[in-house]
Amino acid sequence: MARLVMKFGGTSVANMERIRNVAQHVRREVEAGHQVAVVVSAMAGKTNELVGWVNEGSKLYDPREYDAVVASGEQVTSGLLAIVLQDMGIPARSWQGWQIPLLTSDAHGSARIAGIDGANLDQGFKRGEVAVIAGFQGIHAETGRLTTLGRGGSDTSAVAIAAAIGAERCDIYTDVDGVYTTDPRIVSKARRLEKVAFEEMLEMASLGAKVLQVRSVELAMVHKVRTYVRSSFDDPANPTPGTLICDEEEIMEQQIVTGIAYSKDEAQITLRRVADKPGVAAAIFVPLAEANINVDMIIQVTSDNTTTTDITFTVPTADFERAMSLLEERKADIGFGALEGARDLVKVSAIGIGMRSHAGVAARAFKAFAEKGINIRAITTSEIKFSLLIDAAYTELAVRTLHSLYGLDAA
Ligand code: ASP
Ligand code: MG
Repeated sequence: MARLVMKFGGTSVANMERIRNVAQHVRREVEAGHQVAVVVSAMAGKTNELVGWVNEGSKLYDPREYDAVVASGEQVTSGLLAIVLQDMGIPARSWQGWQIPLLTSDAHGSARIAGIDGANLDQGFKRGEVAVIAGFQGIHAETGRLTTLGRGGSDTSAVAIAAAIGAERCDIYTDVDGVYTTDPRIVSKARRLEKVAFEEMLEMASLGAKVLQVRSVELAMVHKVRTYVRSSFDDPANPTPGTLICDEEEIMEQQIVTGIAYSKDEAQITLRRVADKPGVAAAIFVPLAEANINVDMIIQVTSDNTTTTDITFTVPTADFERAMSLLEERKADIGFGALEGARDLVKVSAIGIGMRSHAGVAARAFKAFAEKGINIRAITTSEIKFSLLIDAAYTELAVRTLHSLYGLDAA
């Protein structure tokens, strides 16, 4: 009997009516002869509310208690779905992370999965039960404390469970019917992709596409879990297949560019006239790393003299002030002429495995941006993507321009 993981996000279990709808999707797969493990998120908005209460409790809260509180949203939906399934005559039981057990590190609030013992779930399948699993949560073996996997973590729970129980696929149900070539709210001609390679999806998720938690895609790639993104808002009796995230070998016709992603809230910091000598980059970036400031695009510019250089990089807007004051404090230590900052930037990226075998892909974008009068502030590239940093005011124009430039517009 083939095994299947079905994961339902917050909007899919937002209230009792939506939970009943989920149960209909589960029933379809059970009747098709699958052994089903369902992974659920908390009801939409619930986790935010719980996090809010924790912050009200104390600014310096105990992260172990944060996890005790925020893991509760998934406990509620897993129990409720089991009740509704039972009410429909489908044997089911709920599983909390600690009951499985889903073992994690002790990095509370963003724990990593250390291992999943599938034996208990196997017993449940033997009894003919649907396993309804609370996503997002686990347990640290040594301390016995509850942990959570970071926001959006139930995607990662689902893929990890799929790998652990040898599921033939993992279906991630959400409020959109798949992965699109870009954000359909910005580009009306965005198309749903039939298939996306793991690596492309990993880049898309890291570069701003919000469908899946980045770590879930990493895990799917490592364990080769065929993962579908599909909609719980489809008619349970007649669902559409969604988008398959799979090995690139499964994708016959590879486009050069598969998708355009963007991420807002980028800020740029530039240090002018820093000494061009060993140790300077370390003097700048080690303190930022120690302050947990996530630095992204880094560019060092060779200047017209040999003694100084300019270094520019990006950080999330939320960390901008902190990064600026940290660098200002260290001015004497680092040694720079001037410190400049800009906010309200956006990073627009084009992603595609086909870039590996095609030259001049990014150059076409530079030309198109020039024609539209969009100034590029920084550029980074890798084997299968390039990213351009621009003023946020040009976001829509830039995304639309790239989308049609690379032939992604729907007919
Ligand atoms: N409920 C958790 C969150 O909102 C986990 C999830 O939904 O994936 O982050
Ligand atoms: Mg999610």
